Amino acid sequence: MKTENLTKKRILTGDNTTGRLHIGHYVGSLENRVRLQDEYETIIVLADLHALAYPKYVASPDIVSDSIFQVAVDNLAVGIDPDKSYIFPDSAVPEISEIALIFSMLISHNRALRNPTLKEEIRDKNLGDNFSVGFINFPILMAADILSVNADLVPVGEDQAPHLELAREIVQKFNNTYGGVFKEPEGLIGRVPRLVGTGGKAKMTKSLDNVIYLSDDSVTLKKQVMSMFTDPKRIHADDPGSVEGNTVFLYHDIFNSNKEEVAELKARYKKGTVGDVEVKEKLFVVLDNILSPIREKRKYYENHRDEVFDILKTGTLKVSEEAKKTLENMREKMKLPRFS
Ligand code: ATP
Ligand code: MG
Repeated sequence: MKTENLTKKRILTGDNTTGRLHIGHYVGSLENRVRLQDEYETIIVLADLHALAYPKYVASPDIVSDSIFQVAVDNLAVGIDPDKSYIFPDSAVPEISEIALIFSMLISHNRALRNPTLKEEIRDKNLGDNFSVGFINFPILMAADILSVNADLVPVGEDQAPHLELAREIVQKFNNTYGGVFKEPEGLIGRVPRLVGTGGKAKMTKSLDNVIYLSDDSVTLKKQVMSMFTDPKRIHADDPGSVEGNTVFLYHDIFNSNKEEVAELKARYKKGTVGDVEVKEKLFVVLDNILSPIREKRKYYENHRDEVFDILKTGTLKVSEEAKKTLENMREKMKLPRFS
């Protein structure tokens, strides 16, 4: 069992339950969670209410429900220790929704829409002008997740920075209007703020099929790596190639810890003495070595589903307790009555 440590600062971070996690999630946020879980009390939200912000998932309860399990397993498989950290789905804590509703009264419609990440998603996910009110409220709901447990630090990828800015504004607005309840959470952007996808242009994102999943088997991984974008101007293996803006080399820089090998490959590539195939095969080996222990751990949890659900139950109880206290504090400051 976890030991309560009142002196420890707290992390709140998480992922949408819109499918399994990929290596972009890993370098953007998961790595930091795993690294900091001794130093901070870490709470991971499986953002299943957030998933409903997208038309595709509001119509797919089976995917969202299965993803609750899969995303929990992805977190455990990369090294989140259930004896140290908590994991819970946000729909299981109704107080968070009430906190979000109150926050939505503090933010103007214009301010909510003035968010570059929402605009990007409207464009990239082809939402047109048919997005829901819940979609606009997505960052407010995220603020409710973070502030319901009064988190100090929020490890996120770069795309979430505008949401965190809004959370800080909500803190100021609430505290100035009703009195101090919240502290401003800090963001922590990952080692790679925005990993590009295997197609080389857009952010790695499951909606674009440019993804390497943490759960991909070796065969799928190899297929994805071998089809990666390289230098489009290079026709033959003995043409001198460019390593700048070349996704395969970008991934080598990020994931290959053998810096000598990377430097040697780059030098040969620029001279035209190494082909794309060899560079990609070396990248495959690097990624396969990273994913291999993750797959093993994943297998364990897939075979111990009850253990995963027990972990989620413990996380839900913990966050419920915290969110209840926060909400009571808010209601008291706002002079909202309770008759029961
Ligand atoms: P996807 O874009 O694949 O649909 P998502 O945006 O739904 O994934 P989130 O739950 O929003 O995934 O992301 C979880 C965390 O991972 C967030 O902190 C987000 O910023 C980070 N993240 C997602 N994609 C990337 C990426 N390509 N590079 C770096 N960080 C990322
Ligand atoms: Mg996202």
